[in-house]
Amino acid sequence: DSARLTQLLSSIDGRGYGSYKQLRGSYDLGTCRLLIDHVQADPFAPPSLMRLVVDRAAAGFPEDLLADRHGHVATSDFLARALTETASHSGERVDVGAPGQEVLERTTIAVADDGIEARLAAELPASGRRIQGRRAARLLTEDLPRIAEAVLFHARHDAEALRAHVALHRDQEALRDRLAGRGLVALVGDGAILPRRSGDSELPLIEDAVPFESPASLRVEIDLPSGRRVSGMGIPEGVTVIVGGGFHGKSTLLRALERGIHPHVAGDGREWVITRADAAAIRAEDGRAVTGVDISPFISGLPSGTDTRSFTTSNASGSTSQAASLIEAADAGASALLIDEDTSATNFMLRDARMRALIPSEREPITPFVDRVRPLFAERGVSTVLVAGGSGAFFDVADHVIAMDSYAPCDVTAEARALAEEAQPPAAPVFTAPRPRLPDPVSLRPADARKPASARGRDTIRLGREHLDLSAVSQLLDPAQTQGVAHALDRLADLLAEDGRLPLEDAVQVLVDRIESGGLETLSPHRGHPGHLARPRALEIHAAVNRWRGLRLV
Ligand code: ADP
Ligand code: MG
Repeated sequence: DSARLTQLLSSIDGRGYGSYKQLRGSYDLGTCRLLIDHVQADPFAPPSLMRLVVDRAAAGFPEDLLADRHGHVATSDFLARALTETASHSGERVDVGAPGQEVLERTTIAVADDGIEARLAAELPASGRRIQGRRAARLLTEDLPRIAEAVLFHARHDAEALRAHVALHRDQEALRDRLAGRGLVALVGDGAILPRRSGDSELPLIEDAVPFESPASLRVEIDLPSGRRVSGMGIPEGVTVIVGGGFHGKSTLLRALERGIHPHVAGDGREWVITRADAAAIRAEDGRAVTGVDISPFISGLPSGTDTRSFTTSNASGSTSQAASLIEAADAGASALLIDEDTSATNFMLRDARMRALIPSEREPITPFVDRVRPLFAERGVSTVLVAGGSGAFFDVADHVIAMDSYAPCDVTAEARALAEEAQPPAAPVFTAPRPRLPDPVSLRPADARKPASARGRDTIRLGREHLDLSAVSQLLDPAQTQGVAHALDRLADLLAEDGRLPLEDAVQVLVDRIESGGLETLSPHRGHPGHLARPRALEIHAAVNRWRGLRLV
């Protein structure tokens, strides 16, 4: 079909851009098949969506690499990285949804029973609004087949590198699976490089980076499927407080734990920083919307008389926003919370003795986190890892205290305990079981939403005319994952439109089950090329719904 495509393109050369529409369809280009699913309407529209497919047997990938889900994800990731590299050498603009430092399930490469497929988005060339047929022919009949040959055939790859990529991923996920059985929230491997090159880079700091070295008292060793043995600092369940002077590496450690929910590529430095998959970073976020959340364990008896057992606001304060985010995460199934003093509301975290003496507790609506962190673990089984360099108040409630000293962790639990006072447990349970929330189905689909929800970068989802701000959802990785969340919001609206009595938590679970069984593309509204998506966790889907200003409960 290569000749047919070239001929078609030469026949529309110089015509108006709209004639490109005729390209839609399927072309056998010898080594690969080209499927053109969507043609952009004009040169300035988002690029055209295409797929390159080769026969799975011809592609020749060893079956053992693809035998399980982790192998699938890692092999696809390896090919997506090769695709990014190869596509960058094309003379035309070819987007592939490039992976970053984390290895995630993505829609870029699909491995099915019969074929292996690369999904890309390419700009069809134009001069002004006129079609450049010959340039387009070069792109479609030469560049793209070359990309397919370089990426989709096993023989073109370094077989050992691919095998190592898959083995690393399987080991990392095996380690994650073992954390709960060992009573750990996370592991930080010996030798890990935690600091990043700069505030806006996820690449490792190279010069002067001090490798992580676990304190003997917290050191654990874990044997992994490949035969590798990893040692490092195990962070136990319960309450762990990270202390230390300013600039000694506390936030860097916490940030690595936040990102440790996903596996990192070899060379990242955080390969063996592995955190439970359901750990949630919690921070203050004043101005966010909150809809029907029980924040009464933290805030009650407001002077306005507002009922905080089902708290709603369009403009939360620092402390109420942090309380709401925490309860939402726990209700969404988080088994561990990661909190940094740098991004917390002080009055949410603690209140000192003099303030307690001056303002009697019945006049203070806020019960600080320091008084709730133990009941949270005792009653709901939710652990906390907390950075607190500015106050010793958390010594009273900590199971473990780790001091960062020139980037080196020391176990100072005994010293901190000597300074601690007896914490007073609450007289009665304070955390109620999560109450299901029933969203009003129409509230998830605004009347002015003619187009599907879509990501605008990492931080924003456009829903109707509104923008949903996710900049404080710090564990979202990249625009492709935000796009996954955007599609999830639309699918949630579909589910609720079918069944108006479906609690939010159940609806999100239905989506997660669908992704597990049908793949990430089940989120996409498009057939064929699903767009470039990365898989979000249920926690990020919840985080987005919970921040939606239009959300109403029935
Ligand atoms: P803290 O939260 O204790 O004030 P940070 O984690 O913000 O400290 O770290 C302060 C600085 O030290 C940052 O610029 C960070 O990149 C750097 N840093 C952190 N850990 C290391 C390390 N292991 N080796 C070298 N530099 C580090
Ligand atoms: Mg800090």
